[in-house]
Amino acid sequence: PDNNAPPMPWFGMDIGGTLTKLVYFEPRETNRRELDKETEILKNIRRYLTRNSAYGKTGRRDVHLQMDNVTIRGRRGTLHFIRFPTSEVGAFLQLARSKGMAALVNTIYATGGGAYKFEEDFIKEVNMRLSKLDELDALIAGVLFVDSMNPQECYYWAPPDQGTNSKDTPYLEPALSQYSRKPFDFSNPYPFLLVNIGSGVSMLVVNAPNDYYRVSGTSLGGGTFLGLCCLLAGCSSFEEAIALAASGDNTTVDKLVRDIYGGDYERFGLRGDLVASSFGHMCSSERRARVSREDLARATLVTITNNIGSIARLCASNERLERVVFCGNFLRVNPLSMKLLSYAMSYWSRGALKALFLEHEGYFGAVGCLLHYDS
Ligand code: ADP
Repeated sequence: PDNNAPPMPWFGMDIGGTLTKLVYFEPRETNRRELDKETEILKNIRRYLTRNSAYGKTGRRDVHLQMDNVTIRGRRGTLHFIRFPTSEVGAFLQLARSKGMAALVNTIYATGGGAYKFEEDFIKEVNMRLSKLDELDALIAGVLFVDSMNPQECYYWAPPDQGTNSKDTPYLEPALSQYSRKPFDFSNPYPFLLVNIGSGVSMLVVNAPNDYYRVSGTSLGGGTFLGLCCLLAGCSSFEEAIALAASGDNTTVDKLVRDIYGGDYERFGLRGDLVASSFGHMCSSERRARVSREDLARATLVTITNNIGSIARLCASNERLERVVFCGNFLRVNPLSMKLLSYAMSYWSRGALKALFLEHEGYFGAVGCLLHYDS
């Protein structure tokens, strides 16, 4: 172990527009002397974080994402992944204070808008200085590090018939439920398009670890999906919105090509079952009277997802990229959007583009911050 390493505890934090992501490094103690040196407060914090998976009313640890045997600054240990709504930063600070954090003069590497917005509160409540990092730098560093540590990190969704006659199939949308998850070897990733779907969306062209730029973005992101689902379908959580969407049917809400043409628009190869106008049926009061919450949630999910997919596809083809990597918490517990993105990428590019996904979804910015203990 490196004796000049900053004192524990080591955290990386991403205080986003909706969710705060906290990554905690739990060192694996190798000798007794070190264990004896660990202060009571540190010990209690470690125990509290690693023995629970719920903190206060809204804090959660994603136990399934835990990474063992990670090395940072010569220390081997475990990464723990914790999240809570950014609206609860006040409650988080109270809790951290009650666990004695204020007694450990310390620095946390942090990113996201909240690292600026809540800087003063961190100093006042828990005596913690936030050392601020750029969120896109942190995001990319986190993606590359986690991928290098976890061979299962990167995956894609394969349609049912892929591998046999995928070149001949006319890209008919196979039942999304039949898509299966397959590992993807991301050891040779460059160049790729990174699409981070958080509250809003950012798209980055990544040519090498320190060579990237932001090409595009859209404000129609995960926050829009959840906001509209709250308005239109009376949802009160992201999980509820996703569950409603999973059982809904967007064709009662969206106007399809066949609703306008009576069939396909053959001249330009547009199939009848493509959406021609998102929410286009909702101009009719009769249809509005009959529509269900599930269908509205589904249409909202399809609209937001396909819009992101088509911007990503345009960026990728402009920049001549073949791989598009999607991350961000909008994809959390949301296989439907991942499959729609996979289908859309491949359909609209005639098979040239591949949609890839990452297991640690929304945590890369926070991991990127934690890595700064290494420099
Ligand atoms: P940000 O940094 O902007 O907060 P995230 O990558 O954390 O971005 O993604 C936030 C989005 O993730 C939300 O807009 C919502 O669509 C989705 N989401 C996933 N899980 C939750 C949750 N438990 N609560 C709220 N939003 C969630």
